Amino acid sequence: MNIELRRIKVCDVFSGYIDKGDDGVFAYGGKLSIRPPYQREFVYNDVQAEAVIQTAIKQYPLNIMYWAKTGDDEYEVMDGQQRTLSLMRFLDHRFTIKVEGKTYYHDVLPEDVYDKLVNYELMVYVCEGTESEKLAWFETVNIAGEKLTDQELRNISYTGPWLADAKFHFSKRTCAAKHLAERYIVGDPNRQELLEKALKGIIEAQGLKDITDYMAAHKSDTDADELWQYFQDVIHWVQKTFPTYYADMKGLDWCHLYNIYSNNKYNSSQIDAEVAKLHKDKEVTKKKGIYEFLLSRETDIYAGRHLHLRSFDEDDKMTVYTNQEGKCAVCHKDFPFDQMEGDHIIPWSKGGKTVIDNCQMLCKHCNSIKSNKY
Ligand SMILES: [Zn+2]
Repeated sequence: MNIELRRIKVCDVFSGYIDKGDDGVFAYGGKLSIRPPYQREFVYNDVQAEAVIQTAIKQYPLNIMYWAKTGDDEYEVMDGQQRTLSLMRFLDHRFTIKVEGKTYYHDVLPEDVYDKLVNYELMVYVCEGTESEKLAWFETVNIAGEKLTDQELRNISYTGPWLADAKFHFSKRTCAAKHLAERYIVGDPNRQELLEKALKGIIEAQGLKDITDYMAAHKSDTDADELWQYFQDVIHWVQKTFPTYYADMKGLDWCHLYNIYSNNKYNSSQIDAEVAKLHKDKEVTKKKGIYEFLLSRETDIYAGRHLHLRSFDEDDKMTVYTNQEGKCAVCHKDFPFDQMEGDHIIPWSKGGKTVIDNCQMLCKHCNSIKSNKY
């Protein structure tokens, strides 16, 4: 990894500036790709854009920008795209600014002000290296300045047609993934959080270790259809398995649950009735756990832990302990109070409630071997 600090004048970056719309934006004598053809990103509003121009005119420092060296004297903006575009667009007669209360396009600015702007030096780190080197470096510099999310960082290093298509599905406020999954999965598409959740799910399903392994393998794919199909499968499976929607479904790790349980067969009308019953059950204190409890119980008799079933309070346990004269109800040996546990005589799964008449005190050993605890 090679990193070099350069000072580059605004007028030099502006030379050869051309906005080709969907085909990208280029500058610096055609050697700098400010916005690659496959990216269409959020653009600053006029207030933010003017703030960049004012910063340059007043000779205040702008944050350092990062360019990646992509070829012999060819570069791509990795960080600083919006600031660079603001400067270019102003010099391209695209918007006005105010100086001492008067409104100006670039070409009618007072000469000294104009000179300050075009001779303003941008501080640019030009970096050259492999994708993983760039990612590692970005993670480090990201400690300073505006924080990028983990997935935003990954996106910087794995640009290409795959990422463009993935962003189309997952990364806009109005994207299809948000529309589809809004009621089930939490995440801000603008901060790449939905994309990250889908990627976490698919790498688990494929047995990969890290999201970057997947992105590296697919970055040159013509589209992100595999990921988008996977994500739709997850949500459709949730909707088929649990036909009635409850608000507590939102925020569960549905990709993970899909990866584990989607090959099992479930009867959705039975499940639907059980979900409704468990929601009404006062013994169940963790309603969010209902779904995994129902998905997992065939293989896990202790799945009741998903539900955080009610337990006996200290007063009730002490009353029962006194009634049992300090002896375990199973092995009949003496134990101090703090080494005993309150047990449901009739377990929850058979309709037992958390009431004192259904309480017995057991030593830890006897309690742990009591089967069908719930
Ligand atoms: Zn015992």
